[in-house]
Amino acid sequence: MSPWTQTAPARLTPLSAEVDRRLENLSARALNIDMSRGRLSSAQLALSAELLELPGRGCFRSEDGSDCRNYGRLAGLPEARRLMGGVLRVPPAQVLVQDNSSLRLMHDALVFARLGGVPGADEPWTPPLRIICPVPGYDRHFKLSAGLGFELVPVDLGPDGPDMDQVERLVSSHPTIRAMWCMPRYSNPTGTVFSDDIVRRLAAMKAAAPDFRLLWDHAYAIHGHHDDPDTQPEILTACQEAGHPDRALVFGSLSKVTMPGAGIAAVAASPTNVAWMERWLSRQTVCPNKINQLRHVLFLRDAEGVRAHMIRHAELLRPRFAAVDRALEEHLGSTGLAHWSRPRGGYFVSLDTAIDGCARDVVALAGRLGVRLTQAGATFPHGDDPRDRNIRIAPTAPESEDLGTALEVLVTSVQRVSLDRLLARR
Ligand code: PMP
Repeated sequence: MSPWTQTAPARLTPLSAEVDRRLENLSARALNIDMSRGRLSSAQLALSAELLELPGRGCFRSEDGSDCRNYGRLAGLPEARRLMGGVLRVPPAQVLVQDNSSLRLMHDALVFARLGGVPGADEPWTPPLRIICPVPGYDRHFKLSAGLGFELVPVDLGPDGPDMDQVERLVSSHPTIRAMWCMPRYSNPTGTVFSDDIVRRLAAMKAAAPDFRLLWDHAYAIHGHHDDPDTQPEILTACQEAGHPDRALVFGSLSKVTMPGAGIAAVAASPTNVAWMERWLSRQTVCPNKINQLRHVLFLRDAEGVRAHMIRHAELLRPRFAAVDRALEEHLGSTGLAHWSRPRGGYFVSLDTAIDGCARDVVALAGRLGVRLTQAGATFPHGDDPRDRNIRIAPTAPESEDLGTALEVLVTSVQRVSLDRLLARR
């Protein structure tokens, strides 16, 4: 089949009628499928069922003898710091382990910076403040930083990471640019893995703001789908070697390892930044939930145990991502109506319609057919995709039969909306 974008309008009419027939059939099924966010499937949650029985009555002591039921250990249990250090490839002394949400730690770090500044220039961060946002990206990063008064500065995300010529030009010339969001491995939504060269350039680049920070969101650090995980230089070491030891704050969690609402999260950084974060955290809380930390250590044991657990997740995720790629290839590949990412890890596929101005209508049409997709525009600052073409696909949660149906709705919706645009060009 030749690409629909290059087909004469007269020959599109029968295709259009065929698409309508399929839409009618889908509509008659009164579907109700949620594919809007990166939730875990019930099979994935079941991998960690044992957690609900741990630590068990009578088991409440940390390896250092402290009683986890009581106050203490603001930085987290030593064994939990070792576990998260293994996940983030950072020495345990440079890791603070807290409650379930890494997003909250990112929020806290920016709030602390706004209120009192960061090491290097202990002046509160006050507007004008700007933050670099590689796009497409994660909507909660955008909302978090916009809500704290940052102007969001979009930069293109390429196949190997952010466009470093743009980033270096901006960061070196504008002291108001204080930070940059980075999802270095299996980015949300594209699945991008930053190249070694880009990691090193981020660590080494000149920054006009002396207290510039990389917000290194490692939400998918260990979430590869294949046996040969992608490797990458560790950012704290790279920053140290480049003479910017305090540049990066690394965030991670076990949300997509065990249970997203009941995992543990960590921030890793230079000793100076760790002391800074700990000082602020100590005003916010007496200590984190250490019983939950103990439970996780008993269940996962160490970095090797986490790796073995992630292989089981990968076995569940691989067929889903393969199903997405097959459906898109079969129905959109030959029609030339879309391009999409083929991630080797993470939770999302990023799809761009070939014709600008389609994404909102595609998401709305799929919604009317009973399939909830991530809101169009969500992957851009302020929910505004300037070309209205990006759609985030989150295939992890629906049961596999529903996933097939949801994909059918998605591709048929892309076809319908694209055909409307092509036929209107007549
Ligand atoms: N960062 C990214 C890139 C995410 O996709 C998510 C959502 N899974 C989070 C952070 C939230 O993580 P947490 O549950 O640790 O707050």
